[in-house]
Formats: sequence, structure tokens, C-alpha cells
Amino acid sequence: MNLAFDLSLAKGYTSQSQIARVLTEDWMSRNSYCPNCGTDQLNQFKNNLPVADFYCGVCAHQFELKSKLGPSMGKKIVDGAYESMIKRIQAIDNPNFFFLTYLRSTWSVDNLMIIPKHRGFNL
Ligand SMILES: [Zn+2]
Repeated sequence: MNLAFDLSLAKGYTSQSQIARVLTEDWMSRNSYCPNCGTDQLNQFKNNLPVADFYCGVCAHQFELKSKLGPSMGKKIVDGAYESMIKRIQAIDNPNFFFLTYLRSTWSVDNLMIIPKHRGFNL
């Protein structure tokens, strides 16, 4: 597996967070598979949904990618609006999560963790 990002996609972006999003989403779309049913490619949602980046065309599981500059995941994951996240993880079609850390020194993936969704999760 090639862990390097395709840096040609970063051209035209100046924001570090936008660059990271473009590079990590591209890497995931080329290298991920569905951990639920084993389908060897996930599809990317066309529009940015509040909490969902990829879906499986076979089993319809949804996935959100959270990426962070490494080397470790640390104790916090930065996310968008709290309310939309809570609604989303409590919804019937709640997503699975990919947590990816990357290294800027090599612009490559350092670690990838999958957190499967759970049913009946109430806060
Ligand atoms: Zn699937």
C-alpha cells in the first residue's frame, strides 16, 4: 500500500486544513474498502454532508473521515458543529468513523483507525 498523498492535488490551495482535507480524502477514496462487507472501494459523497464523507455502494454503510496532523491521535478530535455531530451519531443511519493521522514531513499516512458504528447509543 502506498501511504503517500498525491501532492499534485494541493496546487491552488493555501489553507493547511483545506490541503489536508483534499489529500486525505483522495487517499481514502483510492485506498479504503468497506470494513462492513469487504467491498474494495468506497464512494465519496458529492456534497459535503454534516457528518458523512464516504459510503459503500453495496451495504450502504456511511463513513466519516477525521484526519489530524500526527504522529499520534492525541486526546481530542476536532469536529464541526457539536449539535449536528450528536444528531448524526444518534441517527438510524449513523456513520462509521475513520481516524487518520498523517505526517507533514513526508505528506503520508501515519496511522489509520476504524471505529465502527453502534446502535442504541444514547448520550
Ligand atoms: Zn459495504
